[in-house]
Amino acid sequence: MEIGFIGLGQMGSAIAGNLVGAGHDVTVWNRSADKARPLVEAGARLAETPAGAAGGKIVFTMLANDDAVEGVVFGDDGILASAARPIHVSMSTISVALAQRLTGAHAAAGGDYVSAPVFGRPEAAKAAKLAVVAAGDEKALAVCDPLFAVIGQRVFKVGAEPKMANVIKLCGNFMIMAAIESLAESMTLAAKNGVDKGVLLDVLTNTLFSAPVYRTYGDILLREQFEPAGFAAPLGLKDMNLADAAALASGVSMPFLAVLRTQLVTTIARHGENIDWSALGKVVAENSGL
Ligand code: NAP
Repeated sequence: MEIGFIGLGQMGSAIAGNLVGAGHDVTVWNRSADKARPLVEAGARLAETPAGAAGGKIVFTMLANDDAVEGVVFGDDGILASAARPIHVSMSTISVALAQRLTGAHAAAGGDYVSAPVFGRPEAAKAAKLAVVAAGDEKALAVCDPLFAVIGQRVFKVGAEPKMANVIKLCGNFMIMAAIESLAESMTLAAKNGVDKGVLLDVLTNTLFSAPVYRTYGDILLREQFEPAGFAAPLGLKDMNLADAAALASGVSMPFLAVLRTQLVTTIARHGENIDWSALGKVVAENSGL
């Protein structure tokens, strides 16, 4: 299929790589063009503008945040400036409000918009093991199906309104952050009482807490492997802010979200922006004198 891929960061380059590897005709664009080189060497074409990557049947965006997505969609050389009307599939973790704006803008221009945020870190993206949470028009989703199958191990179709997928993604990231905080607090309590943190994790993850989130982040916290960042702390803070905006807009009280946001602000202030969001565990330990 002739497709475009915009945004070649940690996630985007891995996903686009799998699409190229599966034999699709992929045109890529990234703000920093040098990141496109490995994909071009693998057979992708390089566009000079986002509009230049939007001439096929589908155009994916996998960008840092709302500002970046707004720029590549609504900018002078943006997706909407292309004469073609590809289905825009937005995989970035963006606000519910922007998903609604994109839905309206594409519909007004005679195109389709699908929200398809993903769960899984860059390693999972490379291994094509992402979970894709997709929402939008049924026919548009059906066109995307073969591509989702290349990107992930499971696709959840969660509704006809694209914003529904974004809400689920924000709920998920809030819950991951809450799991990291509770793991870090428990491991610190254990350590200060002479209990081996690995033993604690062994007991918890083999009894009531066997979910992947406790296993993955328990292991990262145990090894204190916070750099290089797989999911950078500023992106985590962005997501807590997006969840907060969604909660405010829908009148939902989320007091624990405020705690997590403060912990992430402290993590970034103390340890910089190039650290994984799980380094929040460092702050928990430091605040207890470890
Ligand atoms: P990343 O490595 O920091 O990549 C960010 C991408 O956005 C780069 O291509 C960057 O371009 C581009 N970008 C940033 N600001 C831009 C702007 N103003 N205009 C145009 N392009 C801009 O981030 P990532 O880890 O791939 O994450 C991408 C998205 O996926 C985020 O929404 C994140 O929340 C979500 N996500 C991440 C993970 C994860 O574990 N990493 C998992 C699930 C979802 P340059 O190369 O020029 O900087």
